[in-house]
Amino acid sequence: MGAYENVHERLKALGLYTIENTIDNYLSNVKDKSTMEILDHLLSEEVKSKRSREYEAKLRYSGFPFRKTIEEFDFTFQPSIDRSVINDLLTMRFVHEKENVVFLGPPGVGKTHLAIGIGMKAIENDIQVYFVSAIKLIENLKKAYNNRSFDYKIRTYSRFPLMIVDELGYLPLNKEESNLFFQFISSRYEKRSTIFTSNKSFSEWGEILGDEVMASAVLDRILHHCTVINVRGESYRLKERKKNMLASERIGEKK
Ligand code: ADP
Ligand code: MG
Repeated sequence: MGAYENVHERLKALGLYTIENTIDNYLSNVKDKSTMEILDHLLSEEVKSKRSREYEAKLRYSGFPFRKTIEEFDFTFQPSIDRSVINDLLTMRFVHEKENVVFLGPPGVGKTHLAIGIGMKAIENDIQVYFVSAIKLIENLKKAYNNRSFDYKIRTYSRFPLMIVDELGYLPLNKEESNLFFQFISSRYEKRSTIFTSNKSFSEWGEILGDEVMASAVLDRILHHCTVINVRGESYRLKERKKNMLASERIGEKK
């Protein structure tokens, strides 16, 4: 075999598929570049595509129900949110400090969007994130408990430096469930970060968690090192719908 075939075979053997796919075209068009510059270009393209494959794999693994970035969030619609607080969260300092974040507010105001936006930024920073709805989390904890694999499950969750527990409060928990939830919270306390979203105020968490003692034990641990963000205002979904309705009314007027 000649050098041409050898190079292609070796690139494939090493898994350098980006170079393998582009090298012929690049070399036939390249002008006025040193060998080092050519190598640098080809290798940097390979690194870039490796990074984006890894990013995609981590995103898929994270379990986000949708992908929306912080950049896609319209802060002018949500003036109650302090941008500097969000910017601080985006530095990922809170993950290094093992702190929590709680987004509170009515449905549709963007709590899940913000949590996912921060989660996506975490993944960009090589922090593995796991998103789970509160309902699913409780279900998983219960299943593990019944299978005698509760400790294993907790250890699995502990591998994630950042978890997002979405929609706490849609489902009241019974005594067994809130006990399992408490153990989950305790396992992450001062060790791992968690972002929560909830449509219930803290004073209503007693109702979710079955009793006041359990609620205050849970809240104590969540809030000890925590950024709480109250998202007020109107539902974004509703706003979009109203806008569309107004637009169609206006079209109607013209007739
Ligand atoms: P919540 O979790 O508070 O119920 P979501 O985060 O699911 O609300 O938001 C509902 C929808 O509205 C999502 O599609 C989200 O991307 C969008 N949305 C909400 N607030 C904003 C905003 N300020 N800018 C852009 N999109 C928003
Ligand atoms: Mg939500």
